[in-house]
Amino acid sequence: MESVTRRRFLWMLAGAAGLSGWAFWRLPSEDPADVAVASTTTSTTPATSTVTTVPVTTTITIPPVVLEVIERSGWGARAATAEYRTHVIERTTIHHTAVALTDNRAAPARLRGHQAYHQEQGWPDVAYHFSIDREGNVYEARPYTAPGDTFTNYDPAGHFLPVLEGDYTEQQPTEAQVESLVRLLSWAASEFGVATETIGGHRDYAATTCPGDSVYALVADGSIRQRVDDRIESGGVEMVVLRGDAALARVAGIEA
Ligand SMILES: [Zn+2]
Repeated sequence: MESVTRRRFLWMLAGAAGLSGWAFWRLPSEDPADVAVASTTTSTTPATSTVTTVPVTTTITIPPVVLEVIERSGWGARAATAEYRTHVIERTTIHHTAVALTDNRAAPARLRGHQAYHQEQGWPDVAYHFSIDREGNVYEARPYTAPGDTFTNYDPAGHFLPVLEGDYTEQQPTEAQVESLVRLLSWAASEFGVATETIGGHRDYAATTCPGDSVYALVADGSIRQRVDDRIESGGVEMVVLRGDAALARVAGIEA
């Protein structure tokens, strides 16, 4: 529903019901034009009159939160060195890069390095679909329409592959990083129609410590899955890809 119309509608309802004390607020980080949410109503009843309280039921559509993603050219990705295969995503498997990152300005260079190293293996591209740095910046990596690659003994076809930059045996993920992961996984669950029960870590499929103890703990205790479920229930996620100059400017800001 168009928000102004809805707001007017709600005010009309409030007026019709003889209610006062209606309040509207905006959820954080939303365009003011996007939403108006009715609070619970407080009826100030004059002692001398009889007021019939009319229950007002409205369906509120909460808009999605935005997940900004830096397109490949923004971080200086090379072209793929071979043709991609295709696959159908059926589950999510979280990874880390297993190299501690203490200065996040190095994150885009790290990603360029992973891509170069992975292409040296004869792989068409960096092994993962999206990379998330310590500040929660999200980078497009291999197109998710193509299966990933791995040094370990499992078949990554069918797996959606986010990677957290850093070593999560040594480090703790930042809240910004976890929040971006939650948004990315929420987007993926809706985009690919896969159940959040399929969210796992690399170590669930192969002999590896990946994605590190501190990140895997959030998988094992169900807290990431719960946050994803909550996010989907409260409006979901809209992915916005930063392109061209916007992507370059974002990366320049990260590297500065
Ligand atoms: Zn891994």
